Amino acid sequence: MSAGPVERCLSRAEIVRFLEGERPPGVHASEGDIAAHLEACEPCRKSRDNVLHELSGLEQSLSLLWTRERISCPHRDILAAYLHASLPGDQSDYVRFHLEIVGCDACAANLSDLREADREEPPAIQRVRDDVLRSTTAFLGKRKK
Ligand SMILES: [Zn+2]
Ligand SMILES: [Zn+2]
Repeated sequence: MSAGPVERCLSRAEIVRFLEGERPPGVHASEGDIAAHLEACEPCRKSRDNVLHELSGLEQSLSLLWTRERISCPHRDILAAYLHASLPGDQSDYVRFHLEIVGCDACAANLSDLREADREEPPAIQRVRDDVLRSTTAFLGKRKK
């Protein structure tokens, strides 16, 4: 099937996908045709503008940049860091946007996977931090005497 004009209006989720730099599944038109449709079709233009508005309403450092660079799914390491709240603000905003607004199933599954793994074994970083803390305390204790 060759790419043709957009045969129907896009849903909001599809517009978000498109703005993220992916072709929405089930839409066969080329990128240019989709862009043209979003420009020409009043309802679609409105939802696109809404989405863009939401995007720019998020913290300034957020992800239009990421979006333009077509980084869509964050790496699993990033998701893990997000889970442990150790991501810098802009990245964690992006991940939240990706999960909650885009509603990416793959990443949601990944995240619950990571949560599961966390429950099964105590985080290694925590253990290391405790060890360091203990030996530092011991060291300082020795120096005081
Ligand atoms: Zn439309
Ligand atoms: Zn994703």
